[in-house]
Amino acid sequence: MAVVRCETVSEVCPGVGCFKAFNNRDVYFRDYNSGAEIMAFFTCGGCSGRRVYRLVKSLKKQGVDIVHLSSCMMNMDNYPECPHIESMKKTIKDNGIEIVEGTHH
Ligand code: SF4
Repeated sequence: MAVVRCETVSEVCPGVGCFKAFNNRDVYFRDYNSGAEIMAFFTCGGCSGRRVYRLVKSLKKQGVDIVHLSSCMMNMDNYPECPHIESMKKTIKDNGIEIVEGTHH
């Protein structure tokens, strides 16, 4: 499993909320068993999400089968709405990777 988050928000957020939720198997991570691992934690690369397009094949190759879109990307933290979310979701899905919309909220 991997987490992608908003590049802009990463300037003000170290990602602790996402990791806390995962470590405690809380909120959007509640269904993972104790052996599950975060295999990647990366930002979108900035609008329009170019890093997602560049990394998605590598994620697949490394065996990542689920990508969580961070709560900041899903506008769950009162951050501005992401104008590129649908195209990033399509790229991930088109590569056969499941999406979970959210992390810690
Ligand atoms: S593409 Fe979306 S998630 Fe990425 S920096 Fe822009 S607003 Fe944030």
